[in-house]
Amino acid sequence: MNLFDLTGKVAVVTGGNRGIGLGMAEGIAALGANIVIAGRDADAAVPALASLRALGVKAEFVTADITKKAECQALIAQAESLFGRVDILVNNAGTTILKAPQDYTEEEWHQVMDTNLTGAFFCSQAAWHAMKKVGGGKMINVGSLFSLFGAAFATPYASSKGGIVQMSRSMATAWAKDNIQVNAVLPGWVDTELTRNVRQQVPGLHESIENRTPEGRWGVPRDLAGIAAFLASAASNFVTGTAIPVDGGYSIGM
Ligand code: NDP
Repeated sequence: MNLFDLTGKVAVVTGGNRGIGLGMAEGIAALGANIVIAGRDADAAVPALASLRALGVKAEFVTADITKKAECQALIAQAESLFGRVDILVNNAGTTILKAPQDYTEEEWHQVMDTNLTGAFFCSQAAWHAMKKVGGGKMINVGSLFSLFGAAFATPYASSKGGIVQMSRSMATAWAKDNIQVNAVLPGWVDTELTRNVRQQVPGLHESIENRTPEGRWGVPRDLAGIAAFLASAASNFVTGTAIPVDGGYSIGM
């Protein structure tokens, strides 16, 4: 038995067209699964698809705005029609808006919550039906260090990422009987488009992250490939409802 063989499996990765989502998709593709990446920007998907196909698997992009329940459902349906099944879902798509809590508009609150938490919920709901058909599956929900900590500039983001952990535990509890394992991954500070904006807006952030992180560096998207491979594969069949930091040790010291 090869615990890390995903040949014949199909993974859907929201926000897989760049950043952490692409890093996780590459980790899963390296074990042989075919991949559907989803997002709104089809242009960004072109190099992402090339790098996934270079790993020897099939990969396709599906346009989806996961803040809309109907688009989450259509995404899973399209993945099934492209590759015949869905075994793995990575709820990775995410966004943030940096402001003090008193300054968010209703639209801004919903943009962050609907992308990071509600979208993950509706994609999971749709994927449950698909996974039931194939006898089980793996869901990987991307949280954050803001699942554990708060920040003055990230109230809706931290609220949504705290929610990701509790959503994962609840679904893990409900769906174990369906042979579906649900886990959360909490990436540390990773160099992506998302954090490039934050670094520009929060003076001194870059250096303070480096100084606090025992590994002494920012993460890169490929740092998330291994945890995605583990949680997508049979190696993690008795692991469910966890929230695993992948942060170079940022969260274990002061
Ligand atoms: P990026 O900004 O590089 O990527 C965000 C991804 O989410 C893009 O692929 C984007 O695709 C997709 N996305 C955003 N909104 C939507 C939407 N409404 N519908 C569909 N897709 C959407 O960020 P990261 O790679 O850094 O972030 C990925 C995840 O990791 C997020 O959940 C983030 O919160 C989390 N994270 C990041 C950390 C970091 O340090 N970078 C640390 C901890 C967690 P498109 O624009 O095409 O829609």
